Amino acid sequence: MSERRRLITANWKMHKTLEEARTLAREVRLGLPPGARAEVVLAPPFTALAAVASELAGSAIGLAGQDTFWERQGPFTGAVSPLMLRDVGCRYVIVGHSERRQYFGETDETVNKKLLAVTAAGLIPIMCIGEKIEERQAGRPLEVVRGQLSRGLGGLRLSGEQLVLAYEPVWAIGTGLTATPQQAQEVHAFIRGLLRESLGAAAAEIRVLYGGSVTPDNAATLLAEADIDGALIGGASLKADSFLGIAAAAG
Ligand code: PEP
Repeated sequence: MSERRRLITANWKMHKTLEEARTLAREVRLGLPPGARAEVVLAPPFTALAAVASELAGSAIGLAGQDTFWERQGPFTGAVSPLMLRDVGCRYVIVGHSERRQYFGETDETVNKKLLAVTAAGLIPIMCIGEKIEERQAGRPLEVVRGQLSRGLGGLRLSGEQLVLAYEPVWAIGTGLTATPQQAQEVHAFIRGLLRESLGAAAAEIRVLYGGSVTPDNAATLLAEADIDGALIGGASLKADSFLGIAAAAG
Protein backbone atom coordinates (compact mmCIF):
# COMPACT_ATOMS: atom_id res chain seq x y z
CA MET A 1 0.00 0.00 0.00
CA SER A 2 1.21 3.46 -0.87
CA GLU A 3 1.94 5.94 1.92
CA ARG A 4 1.31 8.83 -0.40
CA ARG A 5 -1.60 11.02 0.60
CA ARG A 6 -3.98 11.46 -2.31
CA LEU A 7 -4.20 14.93 -3.80
CA ILE A 8 -7.31 16.21 -5.56
CA THR A 9 -6.70 19.50 -7.35
CA ALA A 10 -9.26 21.72 -9.06
CA ASN A 11 -8.04 23.75 -12.02
CA TRP A 12 -10.67 26.41 -12.63
CA LYS A 13 -8.77 27.76 -15.65
CA MET A 14 -10.23 31.04 -17.01
CA HIS A 15 -13.55 30.68 -15.24
CA LYS A 16 -15.32 32.37 -12.34
CA THR A 17 -15.94 35.96 -11.38
CA LEU A 18 -15.04 36.95 -7.84
CA GLU A 19 -18.50 36.23 -6.55
CA GLU A 20 -18.69 32.89 -8.35
CA ALA A 21 -15.26 31.93 -7.06
CA ARG A 22 -16.18 32.77 -3.45
CA THR A 23 -19.38 30.76 -3.76
CA LEU A 24 -17.71 27.69 -5.24
CA ALA A 25 -14.89 27.78 -2.68
CA ARG A 26 -17.45 28.01 0.14
CA GLU A 27 -19.48 25.12 -1.28
CA VAL A 28 -16.37 22.97 -1.50
CA ARG A 29 -15.29 23.90 2.04
CA LEU A 30 -18.71 23.15 3.50
CA GLY A 31 -19.20 20.01 1.40
CA LEU A 32 -16.00 18.18 2.30
CA PRO A 33 -16.74 15.65 5.00
CA PRO A 34 -14.79 16.09 8.22
CA GLY A 35 -12.04 13.49 8.40
CA ALA A 36 -11.61 13.23 4.62
CA ARG A 37 -8.15 11.78 4.07
CA ALA A 38 -7.33 13.18 0.65
CA GLU A 39 -5.72 16.58 0.37
CA VAL A 40 -7.83 19.05 -1.61
CA VAL A 41 -6.41 22.05 -3.48
CA LEU A 42 -8.13 24.76 -5.53
CA ALA A 43 -6.45 26.67 -8.37
CA PRO A 44 -8.63 29.67 -9.18
CA PRO A 45 -7.64 32.34 -11.71
CA PHE A 46 -5.15 34.93 -10.37
CA THR A 47 -7.90 37.53 -9.93
CA ALA A 48 -9.74 35.31 -7.44
CA LEU A 49 -6.79 33.99 -5.42
CA ALA A 50 -7.11 36.46 -2.54
CA ALA A 51 -10.89 36.04 -2.29
CA VAL A 52 -10.63 32.25 -2.34
CA ALA A 53 -7.79 32.37 0.20
CA SER A 54 -10.01 34.20 2.67
CA GLU A 55 -12.90 31.83 1.97
CA LEU A 56 -10.62 28.88 2.75
CA ALA A 57 -8.97 30.42 5.82
CA GLY A 58 -8.96 27.99 8.73
CA SER A 59 -9.77 25.01 6.50
CA ALA A 60 -7.39 22.29 5.33
CA ILE A 61 -8.02 23.10 1.67
CA GLY A 62 -4.94 24.38 -0.12
CA LEU A 63 -4.52 27.06 -2.76
CA ALA A 64 -2.61 26.89 -6.04
CA GLY A 65 -1.65 29.26 -8.83
CA GLN A 66 -2.35 28.10 -12.38
CA ASP A 67 0.97 29.36 -13.72
CA THR A 68 3.83 31.69 -12.81
CA PHE A 69 6.76 33.56 -14.29
CA TRP A 70 10.28 32.58 -13.24
CA GLU A 71 11.58 36.00 -12.16
CA ARG A 72 11.05 37.23 -8.59
CA GLN A 73 10.00 40.77 -9.57
CA GLY A 74 10.69 43.44 -12.17
CA PRO A 75 9.50 44.93 -15.45
CA PHE A 76 7.50 41.95 -16.71
CA THR A 77 4.08 43.37 -17.51
CA GLY A 78 1.27 40.94 -16.94
CA ALA A 79 3.38 38.38 -15.10
CA VAL A 80 2.99 36.98 -11.60
CA SER A 81 5.95 35.66 -9.62
CA PRO A 82 6.21 32.69 -7.27
CA LEU A 83 6.78 35.14 -4.39
CA MET A 84 3.49 36.87 -5.18
CA LEU A 85 1.72 33.52 -5.23
CA ARG A 86 3.23 32.60 -1.88
CA ASP A 87 2.26 36.02 -0.53
CA VAL A 88 -1.40 35.50 -1.45
CA GLY A 89 -1.46 32.12 0.29
CA CYS A 90 -0.58 29.56 -2.37
CA ARG A 91 1.22 26.36 -1.44
CA TYR A 92 1.22 24.89 -4.96
CA VAL A 93 1.68 26.17 -8.53
CA ILE A 94 0.63 24.34 -11.69
CA VAL A 95 3.50 24.46 -14.18
CA GLY A 96 3.57 23.36 -17.81
CA HIS A 97 -0.14 22.72 -18.31
CA SER A 98 -0.75 21.64 -21.90
CA GLU A 99 -2.90 24.73 -22.50
CA ARG A 100 0.09 26.89 -21.54
CA ARG A 101 2.21 24.82 -23.93
CA GLN A 102 -0.38 25.06 -26.72
CA TYR A 103 -1.49 28.70 -26.48
CA PHE A 104 1.28 30.53 -24.64
CA GLY A 105 4.51 29.11 -26.00
CA GLU A 106 5.48 27.11 -22.90
CA THR A 107 8.37 24.73 -23.60
CA ASP A 108 10.24 22.20 -21.51
CA GLU A 109 12.94 24.84 -21.07
CA THR A 110 10.53 27.46 -19.67
CA VAL A 111 8.92 24.76 -17.54
CA ASN A 112 12.36 24.04 -16.10
CA LYS A 113 12.97 27.72 -15.27
CA LYS A 114 9.58 27.93 -13.59
CA LEU A 115 10.17 24.78 -11.56
CA LEU A 116 13.46 26.15 -10.30
CA ALA A 117 11.83 29.47 -9.36
CA VAL A 118 8.81 27.86 -7.72
CA THR A 119 10.86 25.54 -5.55
CA ALA A 120 13.30 28.35 -4.67
CA ALA A 121 10.29 30.30 -3.37
CA GLY A 122 9.31 27.38 -1.15
CA LEU A 123 6.26 26.44 -3.20
CA ILE A 124 5.42 23.02 -4.60
CA PRO A 125 5.09 22.74 -8.37
CA ILE A 126 2.44 20.53 -9.92
CA MET A 127 4.29 19.76 -13.13
CA CYS A 128 2.11 18.66 -16.07
CA ILE A 129 3.32 16.26 -18.73
CA GLY A 130 1.55 14.17 -21.33
CA GLU A 131 1.47 13.16 -24.96
CA LYS A 132 -0.66 14.47 -27.82
CA ILE A 133 -3.02 12.20 -29.74
CA GLU A 134 -0.64 11.75 -32.69
CA GLU A 135 2.14 10.82 -30.29
CA ARG A 136 -0.05 8.16 -28.66
CA GLN A 137 -1.13 6.84 -32.05
CA ALA A 138 2.52 6.57 -33.02
CA GLY A 139 3.12 4.48 -29.89
CA ARG A 140 5.31 7.16 -28.29
CA PRO A 141 3.62 8.20 -25.01
CA LEU A 142 6.44 6.87 -22.82
CA GLU A 143 9.14 8.45 -24.95
CA VAL A 144 7.30 11.81 -24.82
CA VAL A 145 6.90 11.88 -21.04
CA ARG A 146 10.50 10.75 -20.61
CA GLY A 147 11.70 13.75 -22.65
CA GLN A 148 9.40 16.21 -20.88
CA LEU A 149 10.55 14.94 -17.50
CA SER A 150 14.27 14.92 -18.17
CA ARG A 151 14.28 18.40 -19.74
CA GLY A 152 11.79 19.84 -17.26
CA LEU A 153 13.46 18.52 -14.12
CA GLY A 154 17.05 19.31 -15.14
CA GLY A 155 19.07 20.85 -12.32
CA LEU A 156 16.40 20.40 -9.65
CA ARG A 157 17.43 18.99 -6.29
CA LEU A 158 14.27 17.90 -4.55
CA SER A 159 12.83 15.80 -1.83
CA GLY A 160 9.69 13.87 -2.73
CA GLU A 161 7.43 16.31 -0.91
CA GLN A 162 8.65 19.23 -2.99
CA LEU A 163 7.24 18.02 -6.29
CA VAL A 164 3.91 16.80 -7.64
CA LEU A 165 3.55 15.50 -11.19
CA ALA A 166 0.39 15.36 -13.24
CA TYR A 167 0.19 12.97 -16.16
CA GLU A 168 -2.34 14.55 -18.48
CA PRO A 169 -2.67 12.98 -21.92
CA VAL A 170 -3.48 16.02 -24.05
CA TRP A 171 -6.12 14.10 -26.01
CA ALA A 172 -8.06 13.52 -22.79
CA ILE A 173 -8.15 17.12 -21.55
CA GLY A 174 -11.56 18.69 -21.86
CA THR A 175 -12.59 16.15 -24.50
CA GLY A 176 -14.61 13.67 -22.48
CA LEU A 177 -12.09 11.00 -23.55
CA THR A 178 -10.44 9.48 -20.51
CA ALA A 179 -7.40 7.24 -20.52
CA THR A 180 -8.42 3.80 -19.33
CA PRO A 181 -7.12 2.99 -15.86
CA GLN A 182 -4.67 0.55 -17.51
CA GLN A 183 -3.40 3.13 -20.00
CA ALA A 184 -2.93 5.65 -17.21
CA GLN A 185 -1.30 3.17 -14.82
CA GLU A 186 1.18 2.09 -17.50
CA VAL A 187 2.42 5.66 -17.87
CA HIS A 188 2.31 6.38 -14.13
CA ALA A 189 4.39 3.29 -13.35
CA PHE A 190 6.85 4.30 -16.07
CA ILE A 191 7.09 7.81 -14.57
CA ARG A 192 7.70 6.35 -11.11
CA GLY A 193 10.50 4.20 -12.54
CA LEU A 194 12.14 7.24 -14.16
CA LEU A 195 11.88 9.18 -10.91
CA ARG A 196 13.49 6.29 -9.06
CA GLU A 197 16.41 6.31 -11.50
CA SER A 198 17.03 10.03 -11.01
CA LEU A 199 15.94 10.65 -7.41
CA GLY A 200 16.32 7.28 -5.71
CA ALA A 201 14.20 6.72 -2.60
CA ALA A 202 12.52 10.15 -2.85
CA ALA A 203 10.62 8.86 -5.88
CA ALA A 204 8.35 6.80 -3.67
CA GLU A 205 7.03 10.00 -2.04
CA ILE A 206 6.28 11.95 -5.21
CA ARG A 207 2.60 12.08 -5.97
CA VAL A 208 1.69 11.52 -9.60
CA LEU A 209 -1.80 12.77 -10.42
CA TYR A 210 -3.88 11.80 -13.42
CA GLY A 211 -5.70 14.49 -15.40
CA GLY A 212 -8.02 14.26 -18.39
CA SER A 213 -11.81 14.26 -18.19
CA VAL A 214 -11.95 12.91 -14.64
CA THR A 215 -15.53 12.76 -13.36
CA PRO A 216 -17.27 11.33 -10.29
CA ASP A 217 -18.09 8.28 -12.45
CA ASN A 218 -14.56 7.34 -13.47
CA ALA A 219 -12.54 8.69 -10.52
CA ALA A 220 -12.69 5.60 -8.31
CA THR A 221 -11.39 3.18 -10.94
CA LEU A 222 -8.55 5.51 -11.90
CA LEU A 223 -7.61 6.13 -8.27
CA ALA A 224 -7.61 2.40 -7.56
CA GLU A 225 -4.45 2.03 -9.67
CA ALA A 226 -1.26 1.63 -7.65
CA ASP A 227 0.63 4.61 -9.07
CA ILE A 228 -2.24 7.09 -9.46
CA ASP A 229 -2.07 9.31 -6.40
CA GLY A 230 -4.80 11.79 -7.15
CA ALA A 231 -6.32 13.87 -9.90
CA LEU A 232 -6.04 17.24 -11.60
CA ILE A 233 -9.52 18.22 -12.64
CA GLY A 234 -10.70 20.89 -15.05
CA GLY A 235 -14.31 20.77 -16.22
CA ALA A 236 -15.68 18.70 -13.36
CA SER A 237 -14.13 21.06 -10.81
CA LEU A 238 -16.33 23.98 -11.84
CA LYS A 239 -19.37 22.68 -9.97
CA ALA A 240 -19.21 21.77 -6.30
CA ASP A 241 -21.25 18.57 -6.68
CA SER A 242 -19.05 16.96 -9.28
CA PHE A 243 -15.80 18.09 -7.64
CA LEU A 244 -16.95 16.83 -4.24
CA GLY A 245 -17.98 13.55 -5.87
CA ILE A 246 -14.41 13.08 -7.10
CA ALA A 247 -12.99 14.07 -3.70
CA ALA A 248 -15.28 11.50 -2.08
CA ALA A 249 -13.94 8.81 -4.43
CA ALA A 250 -10.44 9.69 -3.20
CA GLY A 251 -11.39 8.92 0.40
C1 PEP B 1 -6.99 19.99 -16.93
O1 PEP B 1 -7.21 21.06 -17.46
O2 PEP B 1 -5.96 19.84 -16.26
C2 PEP B 1 -7.98 18.92 -17.10
C3 PEP B 1 -7.63 17.73 -16.77
O3 PEP B 1 -9.17 19.30 -17.65
P1 PEP B 1 -10.47 18.34 -17.80
O4 PEP B 1 -10.69 17.70 -16.45
O5 PEP B 1 -11.57 19.27 -18.18
O6 PEP B 1 -10.15 17.33 -18.84
